[in-house]
Amino acid sequence: MIIVTRIGTPAAEITAIEDRIRNEGLKSHQIEGANLVIIGVIGDPSEDFRDQMKVFPGVERVVRISAPYKLAGAGEGRPPTQIRVGDVTIGGEGTVVIAGPCTIESREQLLTTAERIKQAGATILRGGAYKPRTSPYSFQGLEVEGLKYLKEVSLATGLATITEVMEPELVATVAEYTDILQIGARNTQNFPLLKAAGKSGIPVMVKRGPASTISEWLMSAEYVMAEGNPDVILCERGIRSFDDSTRNTQDVAAVAVAKRLSHLPVIIDPSHGTGVWHLVEPLALAGIAAGADGVMVEVHPAPELALADGAQSLTFENFAHMMTALRRVADAMDRPLRQLQPA
Ligand code: PEP
Ligand code: MN
Repeated sequence: MIIVTRIGTPAAEITAIEDRIRNEGLKSHQIEGANLVIIGVIGDPSEDFRDQMKVFPGVERVVRISAPYKLAGAGEGRPPTQIRVGDVTIGGEGTVVIAGPCTIESREQLLTTAERIKQAGATILRGGAYKPRTSPYSFQGLEVEGLKYLKEVSLATGLATITEVMEPELVATVAEYTDILQIGARNTQNFPLLKAAGKSGIPVMVKRGPASTISEWLMSAEYVMAEGNPDVILCERGIRSFDDSTRNTQDVAAVAVAKRLSHLPVIIDPSHGTGVWHLVEPLALAGIAAGADGVMVEVHPAPELALADGAQSLTFENFAHMMTALRRVADAMDRPLRQLQPA
């Protein structure tokens, strides 16, 4: 941390600042410029200490040097995190495709979708049993019945699974039925939920909040990791912007930024990122080209009948079409898709 003092700050004030630094158990190093004094703070100052230093009248600016996300940050020479679920490695040499319905609607719907996405080359099945719907009158999910279908279909197809959990009290139950827990965009700063997911013992995918900075998103991952769970996946799913031609604004640059700042795998979700089925393929390709470790997309046997997110769901044909293009981009990135062996 560096403290830039105001021009003309009296020496007594500089001494008071340095005394406060020492009282915190940190060291200070003074650099005397032509017009002002800069104080380097050596040690590991807390977030609160940074704020406290801004209170001194002689302080112009406090500049952070090291990132606040100690575990999620790239760090010196930290290797990329690879997360193994079933036969799939996320963040490994290959590109991973997660697909499935927004919401689990029936055993039949989930099984048919799982078979078709597997045929086309996906290796992880998604499907919500607890849904964070904007309206309380919209379909809220099949809850435990949906989780049971997810497990059943996973065993039948060999696909690993991911599903959302919305309440800390339900983390243990949901974790019994799935391979990966999803923290949804609306809950990305639900700190009790993040802590509970950190104690679940299974990998956790943390979505970026619609209004989260990249730093806040990484701090959400940090919450999970601070509970002793190193298996965290980041997911860019679009942010709020002024433009209304898409549901959200897919921040493709955030994929490259997150890959630079963190060692965690990054997935792009162009279904929620765009909200428009025909934009899913181009943004999926862009995400992989930007360095994402995989994509997550919504697929439905009949999007015109979907109980949630029909407008952004791919038909089986559209999914297969996307996969053909995705294979070519993944190959070009030297991160080919790996298909599961037929069950
Ligand atoms: C979802 O994946 O279906 C979902 C609700 O996503 P998000 O939290 O990104 O809106
Ligand atoms: Mn959805």
